[in-house]
Amino acid sequence: MKFIDELEKYSELDYEAYFRKITDDDIINVLNKPSINRLDYLTLLSPLAENHLEAIAKRANQDTIRNFGRVMQLFTPMYIANYCINQCVYCGFNHENKLKRVKLSMEEIKAEGKLIAETGLKHVLILTGESQEHSSPDYILQAVENLKGFFTSISIEIYSLEEAEYKHAVEAGVDGMTMFQEVYDADIYKELHLAGPKSNYAFRLDAPERACRSGMRTVNIGALLGLNDWRKEAFLTGVHADYLQRKYSDVEIAVSTPRMRPSVGGFPPRVLVKDINIVQYITAYRIFMPRSGITLSSRESAKLRNHLAHLGVTKMSAGVTTAVGGHSKGEEVSQFDISDSRSVREMSAMLYGEGYQPIYKDWQALV
Ligand code: SF4
Repeated sequence: MKFIDELEKYSELDYEAYFRKITDDDIINVLNKPSINRLDYLTLLSPLAENHLEAIAKRANQDTIRNFGRVMQLFTPMYIANYCINQCVYCGFNHENKLKRVKLSMEEIKAEGKLIAETGLKHVLILTGESQEHSSPDYILQAVENLKGFFTSISIEIYSLEEAEYKHAVEAGVDGMTMFQEVYDADIYKELHLAGPKSNYAFRLDAPERACRSGMRTVNIGALLGLNDWRKEAFLTGVHADYLQRKYSDVEIAVSTPRMRPSVGGFPPRVLVKDINIVQYITAYRIFMPRSGITLSSRESAKLRNHLAHLGVTKMSAGVTTAVGGHSKGEEVSQFDISDSRSVREMSAMLYGEGYQPIYKDWQALV
């Protein structure tokens, strides 16, 4: 069975009808349970649950401290190419957008890695657009080879690979993969992904599972908030994480909660997602999946990230640029605008100030 079959179980779910039946007592009952199921999670995502946000946040804070302590893993993304053959309408790197396409040489990748490593970070996330011609798996694995001297954990956020290709990546030293489904609603997915390999919804949906089977240590999933009703997308992201975690108990399953940001192309969010919605999503997810990682990127403001450091988030980016070679060559064309531009040092200072320990390294492969 694949996740697409599991997802099918929820295709007829009438979210509005479910939400209409929820009472205050239902929410209080869910919060009093030691562990909650998928529909309980949906109860905490309901519009009515917004009135109980303080109690939800309190429980999320307790669950996070119980399972993780007061620590925050820091990492930074590293864009090494922006060639892309896809037409995701919401993305600055969309093939149709006229922008300077670049790809770093191995020397440039080492220079970029060196500068990031000088900030103290030991975890890096490599990103490319989707172009097998310009950013082939071999090119990406060469980049990994050149970065191993600087980092103890290297993750990839690239196009969907076959299982054997994920295995090669693991053998080459990659220990984490991030793959956002962007939107779980298959009809909306089709509307927004006009051309290119990424328009294959099912192949992308199955990618995190292929990565789990390949021996990847961490697999990070998510929906891009702003493309559909956030409550439905948050619910299905949680169902996906729960499915993967139950099936692959040796893999660390985590979620990200990326919200749309302005980008080249200017595609506006289809749905407004407010700060309070992000808080509700993260705190409800924490209670549903108390041991799961939650990543909050610099798409969000410093104020919101400071607040959410207490409420479930376990990993944050720092010293971020979304431009290819942005650390060593300065900003050129970025994938999207970031909101929180704090350096690694500034993020660390904030975390210490909030009573948290910033973690630069929590993993190193034996070989
Ligand atoms: S989201 Fe990824 S695949 Fe889609 S256009 Fe942007 S870089 Fe390309």
